[in-house]
Amino acid sequence: MKILIILAHPEEKSLNAAMFNTAIKSLEEAGHEVKTTDLYRENYQPVSGKGNFTELQNPGYFKQQNEELFAVQHSTLMPDIVSEQEKIEWCDVMIWQFPLYWFSVPAILKGWVDKVFTLGKFYDNGKIFDNGFSAGKKAMLSLTTGGPQKNYVEEKYGDINSILFPLHHGILEFLGFSVLQPEIVYSVERLTDEERKTLLEHWATRLMNIEKEMKNT
Ligand code: FAD
Repeated sequence: MKILIILAHPEEKSLNAAMFNTAIKSLEEAGHEVKTTDLYRENYQPVSGKGNFTELQNPGYFKQQNEELFAVQHSTLMPDIVSEQEKIEWCDVMIWQFPLYWFSVPAILKGWVDKVFTLGKFYDNGKIFDNGFSAGKKAMLSLTTGGPQKNYVEEKYGDINSILFPLHHGILEFLGFSVLQPEIVYSVERLTDEERKTLLEHWATRLMNIEKEMKNT
């Protein structure tokens, strides 16, 4: 299978980076093709706006979705967007590796979403959810939290599935992806080295068997 992994963490020695590197290694060992985007290391510019385009259809009044439709016909998207879109179209499975920031993705990853998933190419009138352009592809969130698992309940922070719903449903399923169970590592800073080693092994094993997991989903 062809697997795309997006990393959104600024520190190369972080646990998120370790999970990213573990994923690349285990997926390649299992015979999959892997492409990656390491957003911080590539200094990805996440601010979406006029700069997404090489030229504007309507310079007098900027409306991003109109410009996205124009870009489909006239190839006016900036190369940094086109190259990410090509990777998404290439992949069978897309994995996002990130630390939970304010119950969501880090801004650099949200900006990547805002820029890359353009109207007319990744969604359109009636081309959403089961009819989305990415139907048939799978996606998985792999995230770490600072807060402990026991706090991710209704009476405290809220259920983690509710917190991830905007990402799962509002972005990934909206685009047509089928969502795999997220990989969630809670409270990573409070774990022992041994516990972190075990979770990385568990992650590697899960990915080695990803094809089997997908067949059973
Ligand atoms: P790190 O601190 O990088 O790693 C943890 C430990 O693992 C470190 O000691 C590291 O050395 C060690 N490690 C690295 N590699 C390995 C390895 N190969 N083997 C063993 N150990 C290793 N948390 C929430 O729960 N909810 C929120 O809404 C939330 N919002 C936040 C918003 C912001 C802006 C910020 C900055 C943080 C927020 N947090 C939140 C906390 C954040 O989610 C955690 O700090 C983050 O998930 C920790 O992951 P990390 O990769 O940065 O951990």
